[in-house]
Amino acid sequence: MSKYKRVLIKLSGESLAGNKGFGMDDQAILNIAHVLKNVHEEGVEIAIVVGGGNFWRGRDTDDMDRTTSDNIGMLGTVMNALRVQSALESLDLETRVQTAIKMDEVAEPFIVRKAIRHLEKGRIVIFAAGTGHPYFSTDTTSALRALEIQADAMLMGKTGTDGIYDKDPNKYDDAVKYDKLTYREMLEKNLQVMDAAATSLAKDNEMPVIVFGIDDPNNLIKVIKGEEIGTYVGG
Ligand code: UDP
Repeated sequence: MSKYKRVLIKLSGESLAGNKGFGMDDQAILNIAHVLKNVHEEGVEIAIVVGGGNFWRGRDTDDMDRTTSDNIGMLGTVMNALRVQSALESLDLETRVQTAIKMDEVAEPFIVRKAIRHLEKGRIVIFAAGTGHPYFSTDTTSALRALEIQADAMLMGKTGTDGIYDKDPNKYDDAVKYDKLTYREMLEKNLQVMDAAATSLAKDNEMPVIVFGIDDPNNLIKVIKGEEIGTYVGG
């Protein structure tokens, strides 16, 4: 039994790159798609925000203006969205991609009412091109879309970690994992797992956030069933 009726799942670009760390890994994407199918079979309405860090992060380049760099980043998320869509369709799931930057020949534009209608009909909706604006991230996009579609929770799949720690667990052996955190604690401790804009948006609108490890995609099913893995961020 699922704990949630409608969820917004954030898939980072890295989660689609598998061990390669860059670009797309067919098997990693298919593994995630299989788990999404299981979640769908639980009767959960699924919307996805895909990141683009497996191709490009706007803030990482300093030899071009930030707006152009971020536009490249947003286009990267569209490539990911189309790839995830194909993987889901190969498993006979109905999907729609909606982009925040219009590209009519490729996908639908983002229209929230239409997105909700798709969800109600059992289609998986993949949101691409972030917010459509530079200087934002796909974390912030996730919080925004979760609120717009009135999701019950925002589920953040992370690579290289299984939740939120007081310091980087890949660098420090004594890093301690939080099972629960308030939004305020996230902001005050400046925990980098999700950016402050996304946390603030979730906080102001009391959107529950669950950060969990997606290196094993089956964790997603555990989260959906209400198992207390990862870190719960709430009010
Ligand atoms: N981006 C943007 N506006 C948005 C969302 C994303 O400009 O609303 C750009 C930004 O350059 C970002 C890149 O797209 O670095 C990829 O997104 P993100 O870094 O959030 O991907 P992730 O790290 O989750 O894979």
